[in-house]
Amino acid sequence: MEIQQGRNDIYLTLSRDGKPPSHFKLREFENSGGLVMVHRSTLESLEAVRADLCAQYGEEVQVIITDGIRTQEDNERIAEKYGWADEGGAVARMSKHLTAYGGIAVDITARVARTGARISQRTLGDICRRHFDFVKDDYRDGHVHADNRNRAR
Ligand SMILES: [Zn+2]
Repeated sequence: MEIQQGRNDIYLTLSRDGKPPSHFKLREFENSGGLVMVHRSTLESLEAVRADLCAQYGEEVQVIITDGIRTQEDNERIAEKYGWADEGGAVARMSKHLTAYGGIAVDITARVARTGARISQRTLGDICRRHFDFVKDDYRDGHVHADNRNRAR
């Protein structure tokens, strides 16, 4: 599948001087069973979102990944809780979180590192729209969904 060309196409590096080469760890993208798959464009977009947030607030803002890759079983379990989108719920049957898409989707929140103050869903969604292909920011729990469904092709 062409869409998966960027899947896991990321250099893994170990920090030796205390300064991380990226702001995200592989484990942040894991499902509950430890499976991980990350598309290169996802990491690039997340770093860009983080940089814009830090610039806008003039201090360090942390982007927290609340959901990354999903197996079909993961998706069904989440749908049991939040309902299928085609039945009025929040979970898409062909969710872009599924492994079939190569790790192009994340659910995120963000907070000011120093104070822990949460960045509003609207602000985070607007900034995500600059750097991701698709953004959904009307979930009741306040998270933002972002994916690179177009550029990952
Ligand atoms: Zn999502």
